[in-house]
Amino acid sequence: MSDHRLAVIGAGTMGTGLATLAVGHGLPVVLVDHDAGTRDRAEGVVRQNLRMAQMLGKLPAEAGGPDLLVLAPDPEAAADADMVVECVVERADVKAQVLAEVSAAVAPGTPLLTNTSAIPVDELADAAVRPEDVVGAHFMNPPHLIEGVEVVRGPRTSKEALDRAHTWLTDLGRAPVVVGDGPGFVINRVLQRMINEAATVVQEGLATPEAVDALFTSCLGHRTGPLATGDLIGLDNVVDTLHVLHERTGSDGYRPCRLLLEKVEQGQLGRKTGAGFHEYGTGIA
Ligand code: NAD
Repeated sequence: MSDHRLAVIGAGTMGTGLATLAVGHGLPVVLVDHDAGTRDRAEGVVRQNLRMAQMLGKLPAEAGGPDLLVLAPDPEAAADADMVVECVVERADVKAQVLAEVSAAVAPGTPLLTNTSAIPVDELADAAVRPEDVVGAHFMNPPHLIEGVEVVRGPRTSKEALDRAHTWLTDLGRAPVVVGDGPGFVINRVLQRMINEAATVVQEGLATPEAVDALFTSCLGHRTGPLATGDLIGLDNVVDTLHVLHERTGSDGYRPCRLLLEKVEQGQLGRKTGAGFHEYGTGIA
């Protein structure tokens, strides 16, 4: 796959994970972030992710490494890419601006994958020069370890873009599941309401975070409880996603509860800051 070049826009939790997945398969990556500090940290994060994924047997031991990674500050750096994954914060205005810039830079027909958690793909496609090139690719965290990807076909997504995205994902060992467009698609339409409700239970003093999560793991057999899942996602991202869902559906079940908003205000964002609903010791995602 070394003749393909992937551009990932946004070098946060998901962007570094996607860069890990790609370089781990020998694919050159340009990783774009406007924040200098984030760019400085990105290579170390990818290196650490790679080591862990290779140790777990989730990525080939020899295929590639951080030397395939280039960091850049502007989306124009994506010009030579033949696949783009947008991974910036879950804000429609920010994503729209990035998609407008990157779609103007790449060759026509280059699939533009948006890793949005909840914003309808067709809404984001409005910002692109060619809306038919925009495909939803909702990866799970960490994307270099979890195979399933919720792929969203917007009403204007072309068959060519969808097919190319599908082939590319399967070449990287992912398992795409294609669904239709709408706020939160399938996973977050269901999951975010559950995380919000679980946080509300804690807010009301009915149960501790440990008790809530223990019920889901020990009684229902879930691998992770809803609050530990929120901590893994990042509570700032959970709140942003709930806002997106609330604004677009009007359903009060998506209005972020007070406790979630307080945790974000206090910088308790989950695993990435070392504390959220649970404590993690280090601030490593
Ligand atoms: P994050 O906050 O860790 O990273 C976002 C990055 O985008 C930051 O590094 C920020 O500097 C960068 N950024 C913001 N504006 C930019 C711009 N204009 N140009 C370039 N870079 C810019 O967020 P994340 O958790 O990685 O989430 C990224 C996207 O992936 C969001 O849409 C989120 O909803 C989605 N997502 C997140 C998860 C998860 O579990 N965290 C899972 C699936 C999907």
